[in-house]
Amino acid sequence: MNSWDPLNEAIIRCGKCPRLREFCERTARERRSAFADWAYWGRPVPNFGDPQAQLLIVGLAPAAHGGNRTGRMFTGDRSGDWLYRALLESGFASQPLSRCQEDGLRLTHCAVTAVLHCAPPANKPTPSEIGNCRAWLRATFDTVPARVYLALGRIAWQAVMGELRDRGWIAGSPPSFHHGRTVALAGGRWLVASYHPSQQNTFTGRLTESMWRDVFAAVSRLLEETGVTPDEAARRSGAGSSRFP
Ligand code: SF4
Repeated sequence: MNSWDPLNEAIIRCGKCPRLREFCERTARERRSAFADWAYWGRPVPNFGDPQAQLLIVGLAPAAHGGNRTGRMFTGDRSGDWLYRALLESGFASQPLSRCQEDGLRLTHCAVTAVLHCAPPANKPTPSEIGNCRAWLRATFDTVPARVYLALGRIAWQAVMGELRDRGWIAGSPPSFHHGRTVALAGGRWLVASYHPSQQNTFTGRLTESMWRDVFAAVSRLLEETGVTPDEAARRSGAGSSRFP
């Protein structure tokens, strides 16, 4: 057992949002024809990666036929292709592909969570559903000793900002979401903003490969400034990439 397990087990059992649970379970029953052979996960999707991560990435929610199908964050959809390729290039991931829970992908000193752990219809959660899932975001912040937080999209930015304010890690009026923005937090931590690597953003060119690479270059630079690189962090903890589920 690692420090994720009790939290992830509690997330998987959560049923606070009846609309989302009904949608996820119905999607899992009905399935998309391309995935007719899949046994969809259909439950809340747990956090993924290294519970001792220096980098915590916060997305919006699992995709109905992505994470809700595979049971792992950013797994089985094109957003995941963008994310894990960038994480491989930055030294956090063991491979660029993220297809299913048994594909061998390991993260080192990086963890992935989301504002919501259940897929919302049309990717549009209600404010009360976001509020319900804040408890899991808070518990994730409590568990992961991150130095850099990467918020993917405006909703993730706002949720993270709420958490930072509650912790007293950010002073004054909260900065607005702006792609590429970096914000210094209390205790030598940093927050970075990026557009979400959704197809809506990547197909339209709102988020380009070059912009995306710049985000991870900024993340790596900030981790270096805090004295922690993926290699250094692994050396300090004695951890290898095979340590994490
Ligand atoms: S979205 Fe979050 S709070 Fe709502 S049911 Fe899923 S795990 Fe629970």
